Amino acid sequence: MNPDLQKLLQLQEADREIQRLNDEVTALPRKVAAIEAKLADTKAAVDKAKAAIKADEAARRKYETSIQDLRQKISKYRDQSLEVKTNEQYKALLHEIEFAERDIRQIEDKILEGMLDADLNEKQLRAAEAELREETAEIEKEKAETRRTTEQDQKQLAEWNAKRDQLRTGIPADTLRHYDRVLKFRKSALAEARDHKCSVCQVMLRPQTYDDVRKNEQILICDSCQRILYYVPPAEPETEQPRPDASNHAEAPAV
Ligand SMILES: [Zn+2]
Repeated sequence: MNPDLQKLLQLQEADREIQRLNDEVTALPRKVAAIEAKLADTKAAVDKAKAAIKADEAARRKYETSIQDLRQKISKYRDQSLEVKTNEQYKALLHEIEFAERDIRQIEDKILEGMLDADLNEKQLRAAEAELREETAEIEKEKAETRRTTEQDQKQLAEWNAKRDQLRTGIPADTLRHYDRVLKFRKSALAEARDHKCSVCQVMLRPQTYDDVRKNEQILICDSCQRILYYVPPAEPETEQPRPDASNHAEAPAV
């Protein structure tokens, strides 16, 4: 194989690895941030459940005070009823007692509803606290993992960058310029020629070009996408039965 082509293939591998590692290094803190956001949500849920429990308790104390007040009123009305002179006054007091008793029943219903709410709030609090414990453990694990992976990635990046720099010094400047330009615009600068086509842009190659590319002896580019073409010879069957090699040549060039 043409040594420049060989180096370009290695350069492409280096560039891809560098890209992948850089992407990974950038993505890792985002992953941690996402878990941290989830953790903040769960903390908010714990606080909300706690606040709801407190509010329920305060409401219950208020209801209980109201019931006490009403009971005192009733007992006062009963005392008064023993001293009234007229039937109307007596009836009026009985009425007041009835009203107060009805109010007490209504408040007792509210207390009961509040107790059901409190059960639910307690359940929600316990669930949120369990989730919080789990997520706290998870984020510590994730942070440690991120630190470890980032360190490894940085180390590999340094190695690949050194390799890349070294490869670039060995490639002619104009070839390198072409490679860089196509890589910049098309995200990849090399394309395998396969089945008479450029395997990336899928455009048919001229028969002469395809024949030349198959020799891997010169730097040839795809007329359509400008990528540098290379050819991977089919793996030689070793001990296996040779398979009929019709598939590679069956396709007629599309017009
Ligand atoms: Zn192409």
